Amino acid sequence: MNSITVKAYAKINLGLDVIRKRPDGYHDVSMIMQTVNLYDTINIKKTKFQSVTIRSNLYYLPTDRRNLVYKAIELFRENHPIRSGLNIFLNKRIPVAAGLAGGSADAAATLKGLNRLYQAGLSLEELMKLGVKLGADVPYCLLMGTALSEGIGEILKPLTPMPDCSILLVKPDISVSTKYVYENLRLNEEAKHPNIPAMLEALQENNIYKLAPLMENILESVTIKEYPIIEEIKSVMKDKGALTALMSGSGPTVFGIFDNQLKAEKVYRYFKSSGYGKQVILTRPY
Ligand code: ATP
Repeated sequence: MNSITVKAYAKINLGLDVIRKRPDGYHDVSMIMQTVNLYDTINIKKTKFQSVTIRSNLYYLPTDRRNLVYKAIELFRENHPIRSGLNIFLNKRIPVAAGLAGGSADAAATLKGLNRLYQAGLSLEELMKLGVKLGADVPYCLLMGTALSEGIGEILKPLTPMPDCSILLVKPDISVSTKYVYENLRLNEEAKHPNIPAMLEALQENNIYKLAPLMENILESVTIKEYPIIEEIKSVMKDKGALTALMSGSGPTVFGIFDNQLKAEKVYRYFKSSGYGKQVILTRPY
């Protein structure tokens, strides 16, 4: 095999809770993760040379050591000899710095792709152990689907898949630093913790009407204070018929859950023509 193309899927957080800040600066979380049918494609091609070259459709994305695809290649190399160079083309469709784990998804897909390309025979568990060195969300991006994520994100439990629905993503034109959001999170009485056990029950019952109103993200308290437009997008989505609307990860992307595809398409068209954000995507659970 000389080349391979892999897909890197985005995620949303149906529920995001932060339990505590650990002495090492990390946070213990409890999150319900969901892969959505929105993906980057990564073409990995062996070359005669020794170097790694990354190109991307986005001019502003770093293509050197700062790119998570590059980091994934270096990590894989430390554990498995690669006797060739690599040419990578990364076609980004997942909005960048959006709370959709695009970079982590690319890192996960690169590890999977290299494992196949070089027939290294690493199991999913082995890839996940490797992946956590690149970021807390990378093991989940390898696992995919609906999952409970605990610890710093590395303790994963697959869950009953979420009920099928339409998912509308709107990313306002602002950038949010994940580090800033976690640093400014205050875990006091005002913090709105999601009821994760009730959400797990709703998932098991395959009941979207029970699940949707339980969706909460504790990080909204930080990001929305800084960027009220996120609250505005949430309100508009709900007014226009979403069962619920929530910020994903540390933001700023807002996702709306719809039980009706035609309604979702109408709201999609509204957001496309409004000034709320250039990136508006209608998708479904993976
Ligand atoms: P998370 O939800 O895990 O916080 P995110 O969706 O908010 O992630 P990313 O899209 O992963 O954020 O991008 C965060 C930063 O990582 C960007 O500023 C970008 O420059 C850098 N980056 C490095 N590699 C990549 C990549 N392959 N795709 C996207 N961003 C990347």
